[in-house]
Amino acid sequence: MSTHQRQLSVAGFERVIHFENPQSHLSAIIAIHSTNLGPACGGIRMLPYRSENEALEDVLRLAKSMSYKSALAAIGFGGGKSVIIHNPEKKTPALFQTFGECVETLGGKYIAAKDMNIESADLVEVKKKTKHVLGIEGQPDSSGDPSPVTARGLFRGLEATVEEFSKSKNLSGLKVAIQGIGHVGYSFAEMLFKAGAELWVADIDENRLRVAEEKLKAKRVPVEEIYATRCDVFAPCAQGAILNRDTIPKLKCKAVVGSANNQLATGADGSYLHEKGILYAPDYAVNSGGIINIFIEYEGYNQQKAFKKADEIYQTLKEIFKRAREKKTAPFIIADQLAEERLYGKR
Ligand code: NAD
Repeated sequence: MSTHQRQLSVAGFERVIHFENPQSHLSAIIAIHSTNLGPACGGIRMLPYRSENEALEDVLRLAKSMSYKSALAAIGFGGGKSVIIHNPEKKTPALFQTFGECVETLGGKYIAAKDMNIESADLVEVKKKTKHVLGIEGQPDSSGDPSPVTARGLFRGLEATVEEFSKSKNLSGLKVAIQGIGHVGYSFAEMLFKAGAELWVADIDENRLRVAEEKLKAKRVPVEEIYATRCDVFAPCAQGAILNRDTIPKLKCKAVVGSANNQLATGADGSYLHEKGILYAPDYAVNSGGIINIFIEYEGYNQQKAFKKADEIYQTLKEIFKRAREKKTAPFIIADQLAEERLYGKR
């Protein structure tokens, strides 16, 4: 293949490579943060980044966070990610096949999956050139839609969180405000409804709101008012960076447990939440069902196995909260410490 490879030396990362192929217009970076715990699995993200530097910053941050997420989930994956610098409206099969050749050069150290702007059809093209791809929905051995497993893990994380602030296992009457009742949010809401919780929901999709009202007796809240809804648990299941200096002062909840990635806009916002006395279940500890589902596919898929593994999120959260109490430290800091212990051993 006439693809040019350029190794980038980045402290703390095993390998970072920029691939370029003028024929298929591929410009991509694959970052392998760590393979200490297994092959580095992480999605492919396609965006029209304004510069190589912007793409590099994104892929490094995402690859490292995959290492931490997989370490906390105690699966046999390391952490990696890839970005393709391209307009998602101008995808071609050739582009993805060239990308597949790039993945193949890494001999299985990086395993690709879906992320932003990547569909199963794109992964099918990648797979024509490498077997190191997972999560292609619709294929016979595929793990399919990860959302039910993510919702199950999130629910187990919520149980551990409620026990931490209320010292009770009883979810009956628990008041939960959910931001985003899409794939994960709705499944999560169903489990809460069955457990006797009372629900408030906000979404920009009218149909989803109607279904939640009819089937789960949920009360709808305007999008901007969900933060100030008085409740026990606020569950962000839509977008990242929603815990910030504007929203945190509005919160009237005891805890935050949600599936959205990167909920804290900054580390300072994590500390602010902690100082306000709101218990925060670290997002990447409770939303790892997606990567768990992919790992089970890697081993040979069985949904019951995936649910069982996602159930372990309960114990992980118990451990994080216990250490947080003992060290009088915010749980989001303890989660990073626990992940680093698993990645590099006790230091
Ligand atoms: P989804 O697109 O199915 O659902 C998101 C929902 O949020 C939609 O109903 C959408 O209308 C709603 N929404 C968008 N903007 C909103 C706003 N401003 N206020 C209220 N609602 C809004 O996505 P999903 O698969 O359910 O994932 C939800 C979140 O969890 C995402 O942040 C995703 O990255 C994260 N996550 C998902 C998985 C998974 O397995 N699907 C795994 C890990 C993390």
